Amino acid sequence: MRRHVVSAALLCLLGTLWFLLWTAMAPGTVAIGYLFMPLSMSVGGLAVHTLLRSASLAPSGRRFWLLLEICCFLFAAGFSVLAFDAFRQAPELPAMPPLGAALIGAGVLVAMWGVAQVPLGVTTWYERGKQWLDRTIAFLGCATVLWHFGISPMFWAPEPWTPSALVVLLLACLFAAGSITKVSYIAGGPVDRRAMRLVASTGLIAAGVALLAVLGGYHGILPGQAVCMPASGLLIALGARRQLAAVDDPRESGGSNVWLPYLAVLAVDVPVADVLIRPWHWAPGVWEGRAVVLAAVVVTALVALRQYVVYRENAGLLREKQKSEALLRHEATHDQLTGLANRALFRYALDRALEAGPATVLLADLDEFKTVNDSLGHDAGDALLVAFAQVLRAAAGPGAEVARLAGDEFAVLVPGGVRGEEVAERIAAATVVPISEQRLLVRFSAGLATAPPDTSASDVLRQADAALYAAKERGRANWVRYAWGMERPKSAHARLGGDLRRALDAGEFRLVYQPIVALDDGRIVGVEALVRWDHPERGLVSPADFIPAAERTGLIVPLGRWVLRETCRQAAAWIAEFGPEVLDKAAPNVSVRQLHDPDFVADVAAALADHGLPANILVLELTESAVLRGQHVSEVLHELHDMGVRLALDDFGTGESSLSLLRAFPAAIVKLDKSFVDGIELDEPDTPAAQARQAVARAVAQLADALGLDTVAEGIESQEQADRLLRLGYHVGQGYHLGRPMPPEQLTEIFAARRVRAAA
Ligand code: C2E
Ligand code: MG
Ligand code: MG
Repeated sequence: MRRHVVSAALLCLLGTLWFLLWTAMAPGTVAIGYLFMPLSMSVGGLAVHTLLRSASLAPSGRRFWLLLEICCFLFAAGFSVLAFDAFRQAPELPAMPPLGAALIGAGVLVAMWGVAQVPLGVTTWYERGKQWLDRTIAFLGCATVLWHFGISPMFWAPEPWTPSALVVLLLACLFAAGSITKVSYIAGGPVDRRAMRLVASTGLIAAGVALLAVLGGYHGILPGQAVCMPASGLLIALGARRQLAAVDDPRESGGSNVWLPYLAVLAVDVPVADVLIRPWHWAPGVWEGRAVVLAAVVVTALVALRQYVVYRENAGLLREKQKSEALLRHEATHDQLTGLANRALFRYALDRALEAGPATVLLADLDEFKTVNDSLGHDAGDALLVAFAQVLRAAAGPGAEVARLAGDEFAVLVPGGVRGEEVAERIAAATVVPISEQRLLVRFSAGLATAPPDTSASDVLRQADAALYAAKERGRANWVRYAWGMERPKSAHARLGGDLRRALDAGEFRLVYQPIVALDDGRIVGVEALVRWDHPERGLVSPADFIPAAERTGLIVPLGRWVLRETCRQAAAWIAEFGPEVLDKAAPNVSVRQLHDPDFVADVAAALADHGLPANILVLELTESAVLRGQHVSEVLHELHDMGVRLALDDFGTGESSLSLLRAFPAAIVKLDKSFVDGIELDEPDTPAAQARQAVARAVAQLADALGLDTVAEGIESQEQADRLLRLGYHVGQGYHLGRPMPPEQLTEIFAARRVRAAA
């Protein structure tokens, strides 16, 4: 391939050199100038042949190049005939012989056919129609220029051309116009776009030759033959090489051709302007001027038509864009499952509402939604959410914004003039019956918050959230309106959680001990260990404030281990100092999380052994809910019991199954909850509830007696209570009246004073 390209380039160079030489001194015969054209066309044909032999082309591409090869050899033959005549008639210049014209004309037709066959990769008839419109415009523009400046002047040139030469030129111009417009639309495909461009440029060369001949007459013909025409052979060889490279490297980018019709309008304006400016020049052919103007009118009309088509397309695109934008906007602001607004849109609506006036927000949350999801599957969960969304929409009424904020959390922006409670009641009324496909009976909790205008949306949502949290805390299936200060415990808990770990490492916890006292003689028989947190900034923190956080974070396990060991250490120290009868129980509290810790039993055993405390002194206080937690806990409790450690049921009577527990659980001590002690001293309790509490206190004492359990009455705050409890059968009590929780040193003093008294 390289050889062909080099030969074609050499021929061009030689042709140019010959022409320069000829103009300077005219050596040899003028017929030599006619040899370059057939030779270069043969080289072009050989290049195409090489391409066809060495590349595997798509069928339509192969057809194009094959037709081009035929065209090259037809040209070569036609120009050989002309060259032959040139040698015969030299020094006269030959006219185009009819055989030559026929061969060349056939070559042009074959090339045109080849170009026309190249597929453009457009499939729909609409696209094809549009392309034909564009191509017609471009072709007309191009053809008008070629006609006006190339062909028509030949008719009244001083030396008119032979008819055969005219036909050949006419065809060449047609080929030029047709292939240029076609080529502009090739965007990759079987024929390489750039190769096609190179080949199509030969049409321009033909037009150039025509122009030369017209303008230069006799002097224009020789440079056309010797310089310009051989360039077509080079272009074809280059095109073949390009196609070969494209086969190896199929990366091909399609170009756009939106500019082509406009270029055609500009092009057609040039002949029109020429006709206007040089009317005398065109005088011989009045009809020529008319044809040019007519062509310009047609091109303009077609461009207008094209413009309209583009306008319609753009309008369609715009509509589509708007539609997809609206869809995107909806998707970005709505929950896909329920179709409700999402958090972003809800906040936006809330902000707008707060700008206008006070706004009420209801946050609702399904109770036990996770259970539905886990037990019935996510489809059932989804269906339930959709059904609940409908309930909310109906309950909220028209004008309300209803949103799904997350998971099973929903929000309603209650419309002005409606009370939030009304909406909550409507939701409650709609959920007394089962909803969703699965006919599920759902319950929900809700928090309500009303904020004055210009409150921030975040603040209202936080308040409603705190109220929702409070509703959940109070037991499910209800609603709570936000009250000032509601959000504080929650955030305080969150802060506490992070602080606890540090406090444990820094040794900020300590124990206080509350005496457990014999009610008849006031003698201290034991102590309950209660943890305190000596916070560096907040001072003494009550366990009620941090035990829940410690349980949630799991830190209760290491904290409880420390409490256990410290209690054992202190109790052992007292026994060592004051003898074994100083106390018969030392009672730390134990959380359910600790019972689940696999090392718990071993920890208890180690704490007793390390400090030499007899197991029967240690009493572990457990709440009823803790001991109800399944098989593993039950095993742990029996192991502890077998070790000789006593177990106390703390806050007894407040749980749900207190009495049945007593049989299943190896308890040794029952601690009657303070709520039963409150009001026990009254002879005639004023309410039935108070009477019932007295009855429970009495029954617990009898039951414990029957089962052989010890009792401790908690929260005794007066002597009357102590007296009454003693009469009811309680022998041991605990409470502020008998002794407040105190630091161990204080108890040591008490024990020491007691020893002195006993000695006395
Ligand atoms: P609890 O085990 O029922 O402890 C008794 C609580 O009642 C103590 O509160 C005590 O100070 C208080 N109290 C005692 N006598 C009276 C009285 O006459 N009147 C009133 N109004 N209250 C009295 P405290 O120390 O705030 O402990 C609260 C709860 O925190 C405890 O209840 C216990 O459940 C838990 N707790 C305390 N220390 C620990 C611990 O080390 N580990 C675990 N897991 N929980 C602990
Ligand atoms: Mg306790
Ligand atoms: Mg208690």
